[in-house]
Amino acid sequence: MKIICVGRNYAAHIAELDNEKPADPVLFMKPDSAILLKKNPFLIPHFSNEVHHEVEILVKIDKIGKHIDQKFAHKYYNEIGLGIDFTARDLQQQLKEQGLPWEKAKSFDGSAVVGKFLPKSKFESVDNIAFRLEKNGKVVQEANTALLLWKIDTLIEYISKYFTLKIGDIIFTGTPAGVGKVRANDVLTGFIEDKELFSVKVK
Ligand code: ZN
Repeated sequence: MKIICVGRNYAAHIAELDNEKPADPVLFMKPDSAILLKKNPFLIPHFSNEVHHEVEILVKIDKIGKHIDQKFAHKYYNEIGLGIDFTARDLQQQLKEQGLPWEKAKSFDGSAVVGKFLPKSKFESVDNIAFRLEKNGKVVQEANTALLLWKIDTLIEYISKYFTLKIGDIIFTGTPAGVGKVRANDVLTGFIEDKELFSVKVK
């Protein structure tokens, strides 16, 4: 399976990092080795002094497809989840300045937290899902998929122009504002509405 991530998909997050709003979705990937194994703590990698949490809504693909029209995109997923795109921000900044790919900063082992999934049918609309991340019991990121610049079905159309989507692939739809540094002993807990979907300890 593969993980396709979307960057710069919430206006307030673009502003907090001083980025420009892209004309098209920014895409990058994480390999399956990036997935943090269930119940394991997240280990801050030795090559970074500034790892940020990025909470994101996840979409699990359950049908193979290429060149999917957004009208039919809803037929390609049945589950919505929540995860963290851990980012070595210091390294990413260096790579950006050098015009190099971001993988070392975004796709290292353990950098993808994939929480539990909920059936899509639980939601009236996937474009109105409230979610949040708590750090040590305090809300640090809070948003709603209504604020996505590119909504889920539009992303599926765009992504599938470049990459065949396969069963089990996961889309990370982008992070809202409030990203920040994690430290040893932090506990990060993610919620969709009032359901807890993951809790990760940092070491
Ligand atoms: Zn992200």
